[in-house]
Amino acid sequence: MGAIVAIVGRPNVGKSTFFNRLIQRREAIVDAVSGVTRDRHYGKSDWNGREFSLIDTGGYVLGSDDVFEKEIDRQVELAIGEADAIIFMVDVESGITGMDEDVAKLLRKVDKPVFLAVNKVDNAQRMADAVEFYALGLGEYYTLSSINGSGTGELLDALVEVL
Ligand code: GDP
Ligand code: MG
Repeated sequence: MGAIVAIVGRPNVGKSTFFNRLIQRREAIVDAVSGVTRDRHYGKSDWNGREFSLIDTGGYVLGSDDVFEKEIDRQVELAIGEADAIIFMVDVESGITGMDEDVAKLLRKVDKPVFLAVNKVDNAQRMADAVEFYALGLGEYYTLSSINGSGTGELLDALVEVL
């Protein structure tokens, strides 16, 4: 088994868009079926010759807001247990939300490499807006646009360094 990288974050930040962009290079979706993994998609990717498995979390069945938050926390806990590195995705359009703060709180305690990925940075103005994410207490962040692909290379360069 190669290294495992999990993408976590609240809904709508662009996790699946990023995941699909990366695994389009390769066709193998190794597991999207079994009960325990129905809410998680696995794919293979590689960067600079380094192969890794990528987990896209999400696709939750929603009950109340309460369940909703718990579900995100559960996904993050699972990712922490399973992954060698974690990409925590946030959204510069919406800025920091309470759910982002909850996830950040869990991730600050983790011993594994965490990459804070500020998504939807489609233009230079949004690059400047991204600075607010320092407030999550996770240190440096990477800005990217999963839609146009800008910034994804820098994030992946740093990611494969730790795998
Ligand atoms: P997920 O719930 O975190 O998996 O988010 P999705 O990948 O489903 O994306 C949620 C929405 O954000 C969709 O409408 C995407 O098209 C949009 N989105 C994703 N990445 C970007 C981006 O880099 N820029 C912009 N402007 N929108 C994005
Ligand atoms: Mg998704």
